[in-house]
Amino acid sequence: MKKITTVSALRLLVADWKQAGKRIAFVPTMGNLHQGHLSLVSKATELADKVIVSIFVNPLQFDDKADLSAYPRTVEVDIEQLTSVECDAVFLPTAEIMYPEGMDRQTVITVPGMDDKLCGQARPGHFDGVATVVVKLFNMVQPDVAVFGEKDYQQLLLIKKMVADLNLPLKIIGLPTYREESGLAMSSRNQYLTSKQRKQAASIYRILNDIKTELLNGGADFVKLEQQAKDELTQLGFEPDYVEIRRARNLEPAKQSDKELRILLAARLGKARLIDNIPVTIQS
Ligand code: AMP
Repeated sequence: MKKITTVSALRLLVADWKQAGKRIAFVPTMGNLHQGHLSLVSKATELADKVIVSIFVNPLQFDDKADLSAYPRTVEVDIEQLTSVECDAVFLPTAEIMYPEGMDRQTVITVPGMDDKLCGQARPGHFDGVATVVVKLFNMVQPDVAVFGEKDYQQLLLIKKMVADLNLPLKIIGLPTYREESGLAMSSRNQYLTSKQRKQAASIYRILNDIKTELLNGGADFVKLEQQAKDELTQLGFEPDYVEIRRARNLEPAKQSDKELRILLAARLGKARLIDNIPVTIQS
C-alpha cells in the first residue's frame, strides 16, 4: 500500500492508474478506523480496480474546537488495518496542504436545504466544512466512485446532492451502518463512552426499532412517537438533541402518504454526541 502525503504525488499516481485504464474507488475518512470503515473499503475493492482511502481530521467541519482536539488520532494503527485489506493507497494530507491559505480564505461549498436541519442545526457550519473538504478530495483523487456510510445519512444525501448539483463525474455509493452485537452503531466517538455508557448506548438502536415497529403497525402520529422516544432517552440518562421521522429522499418532514421514511436520532451521553438512523418502508 502506498502512503501519499502530497497532492502532487497523489496526482502522479492517479494519472498512472488512469493511463493504464484502471477505475478508482475512493473512501474518505477521519481515521480511527473500525469495522464500519473497513466495510466501505471492502465494497470499494468490488467496485473498482484501485482503492484510495484518505485520512484527514478536517478542522473546517468542527464547530467546537475542544471536539476537534479530542478527536481520536490513531494513524499508525489505521495504516496497519488498511494494509490488511485490499487498499492500494492511503492519502494523509495535513491541514496546511488542504487549506494552504488558511480556513478563513478557503472557498466554501454550501448545499442548500441539507446544511441547516437536524445535525446542521446543532452544528452550525459543519456541513459546509464537510461539503468543502469532500469536493476538494474528489478533485485531488478524481475517483470514478466514492463510498460513504449511511451511518451519517444526512451527510450521504448532502454529498449526493452536491455531486448532482455540480455535475461531478463520479458515482456515490451508500452502505448500511455496521453495528456492534448490541446494535450500537460503530463510531470513533464511542470511545468517549465508559463501559456502562456503552451498554446504555445500545438503547438508541432499540428505540429506533420501536418507532419502526409502531410505524409498520400503522402508528401515524409522528410527533407523538418522536416525543415518546425523546422522553425515554431522557429517562435513560441521555440528553436528546432530535428524534425525527423524515422523508428518506430529502429529509423533509414526513407526510402520512410517504412510503420511504428514515428515522434519525441524535443524543448526548456523557462526553459523546451519538447519531444513528434506520430506514422504514411502509407497504401500501
Ligand atoms: P468518519 O471517519 O467518521 O468521518 O467516517 C468516514 C466514513 O465512514 C463515512 O462515510 C461514514 O459514514 C462511514 N462510517 C462511519 N461509521 C460507520 C459505520 N458504523 N458503518 C458504516 N459506515 C460508517
